[in-house]
Amino acid sequence: MSSRHEILRELGLLPLWRLRAEFAEIHEARTEVAPYVAEGVPAPDAAALRDSSEPRPERMQRIAALEWRDFAADVAACTACGLCRTRNKPVPGVGDVRAEWLFIGEAPGAEEDAKGEPFVGQAGRLLDNMLAALGMRRGENVYIANVLKCRPPGNRTPTPLEAESCRPYLDRQIALIRPKMIVALGKSAATTLLNVDATIASLRGRVHRYQGVPLVVTYHPAYLLRNLPDKAKAWEDLCLARTTLRRLPASGQPALL
Ligand code: URA
Repeated sequence: MSSRHEILRELGLLPLWRLRAEFAEIHEARTEVAPYVAEGVPAPDAAALRDSSEPRPERMQRIAALEWRDFAADVAACTACGLCRTRNKPVPGVGDVRAEWLFIGEAPGAEEDAKGEPFVGQAGRLLDNMLAALGMRRGENVYIANVLKCRPPGNRTPTPLEAESCRPYLDRQIALIRPKMIVALGKSAATTLLNVDATIASLRGRVHRYQGVPLVVTYHPAYLLRNLPDKAKAWEDLCLARTTLRRLPASGQPALL
């Protein structure tokens, strides 16, 4: 038995589930370790990051069948990417489960991690103001979630593996809520959802789709706090989202998209 194997057993990290080849190919170990190193956070063993007590296909199927009553507990019990070891509270999402609007951010920050609710810090207050400008309030016809349900250490950008591990939860939320409009807040959420490597400038101003739902990209509220003049552009984005939603036929399928 290798010493690595013994260390993993000592740490309680066995059994080690290996990802299927095609998934592992996309997410090279290098990609996972780099962000930790960049943030000065000790890099966990990449193989340990991929530990899970449940094979991936079974996990995907189980999450795809979750009902709301089990959703938060399932997120709280998740060990798929390793962030469960460093977070305080999981942050599954908040709001109206029949909302037309779904706002998606990147990942919980420190205040969200402490409270278990998305966008409760300064950026969250700006998001509430953005909602108010649309005549909406948190929890009424709006659901707020993040790509990641657990806070990455030091608020670093989510790794591809973390985003991929968490995506079944977001996809299940979308399937349960059936929103008519998704607003992706910031480059990280937008590029992860749209699976593109692009600037936010190139993604703004048009209507994309995620899981068949119209999606509009705008600036992250935390960015807007530092770049006040861009609030006007964010308002344009929200107007585009509102106009698109209003023009949707009753089926929810945009005629010209
Ligand atoms: N930033 C995010 O992207 N999400 C939060 O919940 C808080 C800050």
